[in-house]
Amino acid sequence: WAKAEGRGRWAVYDPERSAADIARSALAANLPAALDRGEFVLHYQPIVSLLDGAMLAVEALVRWQHPELGLIGPDRFIGLAEETGLIVRLGAWVLNQACRDAESWRRAYPEAKLVVSVNLAARQADDPAIVETVATALSRTGLPAELLQLELTESAVMGTAGEPLRSLHRLAELGVRLAIDDFGTGYSNLAYLRRLPIHCLKLAGPFVEGIRADGADVAADHRDERIVDALVRLAHALELWVTAEAVETAVQAERLRSLRCDTGQGRWFGAPVPADQIRERLAGGREAA
Ligand code: C2E
Ligand code: MG
Ligand code: MG
Ligand code: MG
Repeated sequence: WAKAEGRGRWAVYDPERSAADIARSALAANLPAALDRGEFVLHYQPIVSLLDGAMLAVEALVRWQHPELGLIGPDRFIGLAEETGLIVRLGAWVLNQACRDAESWRRAYPEAKLVVSVNLAARQADDPAIVETVATALSRTGLPAELLQLELTESAVMGTAGEPLRSLHRLAELGVRLAIDDFGTGYSNLAYLRRLPIHCLKLAGPFVEGIRADGADVAADHRDERIVDALVRLAHALELWVTAEAVETAVQAERLRSLRCDTGQGRWFGAPVPADQIRERLAGGREAA
């Protein structure tokens, strides 16, 4: 991949390769140079208390500000970055930038105790240097460890053993919070889950989506609500916080609150926005949900 820097030219003619494939390869080839040119940006999405609407955390979500194609979402390049291994370097950039932003918010609004939540790809979690990468980001920026949360998917942590498992424990010992992202979409081994040093479960969007504005749910028998109810109870039994993802309506927010879900994230509480808009929101103080 080192040779693919600059313009990604794929001269080999192969009728079997679709145009989409070629576009994908070109995008992948340009990722390292884009990182060097500083074309990635972070947007932040509020994670809000369902009790009082206070913004307790923000999730850092990476975007690529492409010079010709405009703002490109992570769904189009994170997978590529994982395949090529660039995710380790890109992820380190995300981590440092997120910690830098969070520390500047903390200095301006220390009482807000705003946590920044950063996604870690499986490949990063498996990287033997991950603990050092995180510790360095914290010490370089001055952000207290307890104001950093790392999100890992079920598939990234389930069955983790040996060095990667030790890394998770060492991260927790640093004081960093660990969350399971998109919980309920992967396969979770509960016996295993309870032994992980995690602090939070983020309930995957599809369960929340099933809670509809008309009060009915897709299955007409409130099945998704009952799943959320069960998962919240499970999380609380394990003494974990619960964040519901993809909260889009007032009805969903209210139902989630009555199901004792702790925090919510989604368009209802605010879309992902550039860092300065988070600062404005902090300046505005607590905001009603
Ligand atoms: P995720 O971590 O589950 O992030 C939540 C995604 O839900 C975000 O998509 C967010 O914009 C979207 N979302 C926000 N509000 C709503 C809503 O009300 N309804 C629905 N349906 N969706 C909502 P985004 O920003 O496109 O990110 C997609 C995924 O890309 C993330 O999913 C995460 O897995 C990955 N990703 C993003 N940034 C990073 C990063 O820095 N590192 C790594 N490794 N992965 C990242
Ligand atoms: Mg997206
Ligand atoms: Mg996430
Ligand atoms: Mg998620």
